[in-house]
Amino acid sequence: MLQVNEIFYSFQGEGTHTGIPAVFVRLAGCNLSCRFCDTDYSLKALLGVDDVLAQVQTLSPECPTVILTGGEPLAQTQTPDLIDALARNGRRVHIESNGTVPVPLSEDVWLTVSPKERLHSSMAARANEIKLIVDERVPLEWLDQFPLATPAFLQPENNKPKNVALAMAAIAANPKRLRLSVQTHKLVGAR
Ligand code: SF4
Repeated sequence: MLQVNEIFYSFQGEGTHTGIPAVFVRLAGCNLSCRFCDTDYSLKALLGVDDVLAQVQTLSPECPTVILTGGEPLAQTQTPDLIDALARNGRRVHIESNGTVPVPLSEDVWLTVSPKERLHSSMAARANEIKLIVDERVPLEWLDQFPLATPAFLQPENNKPKNVALAMAAIAANPKRLRLSVQTHKLVGAR
């Protein structure tokens, strides 16, 4: 069974795919405990892969993208089965991970890695994009662990002006490597 927090329809507010519609599957539980974490990843339901698929289908029969988030979505042993089932259902799967759990992923899966601690080298190598959370400091120390070509976003925690200013200064100092990601869903009052 999968430990699930919520399943909902919205749009991707962050990173490379900002603006695309998506069904979000927030899996419960996380293997880290970050000071700035503002995500409710408590366990709300135990669901089989087919149950999750049915809820995705009900929320949107046509939406091409399903985003698995958390918590840490790759910390659950049934997540690869869910990824396979979603792909068979014709969905593009995106995963938002802290990069600590090494899981082989097909090339079709889009992987966002937001490192906080214990980053696994295989997930750093596999990442399609990097999301560094700026929370009173810019954690640039992670950059060297990723391939140079991987797009690297600085995301100010909760869009706070002080964090935005820190991110903008860092981007100005390293414009070839860094770009800004604001949480646009929060700006427009979406989930
Ligand atoms: S890895 Fe993400 S979900 Fe887990 S505690 Fe840290 S910020 Fe929260």
